[in-house]
Amino acid sequence: MSTADESEAISCDACNAPIDGEPAGSGLLVFPRGDRVHYEEPPLCKDCALAIGITALCRFAEQEEEG
Ligand SMILES: [Zn+2]
Repeated sequence: MSTADESEAISCDACNAPIDGEPAGSGLLVFPRGDRVHYEEPPLCKDCALAIGITALCRFAEQEEEG
């Protein structure tokens, strides 16, 4: 009797896999635009977060893992 509303479901930005709950991590994308730099942190699934997270390890080190 539960209504699953998938409209608010989060999907991985890299492989489009559905993410249950909170995203495992987020990739950090940097888009240099002229004088400014635009940052984006798309949600990633566990696998992609792991793969991409390696490159952003220095940033993750600041927050460490949760649980
Ligand atoms: Zn993914």
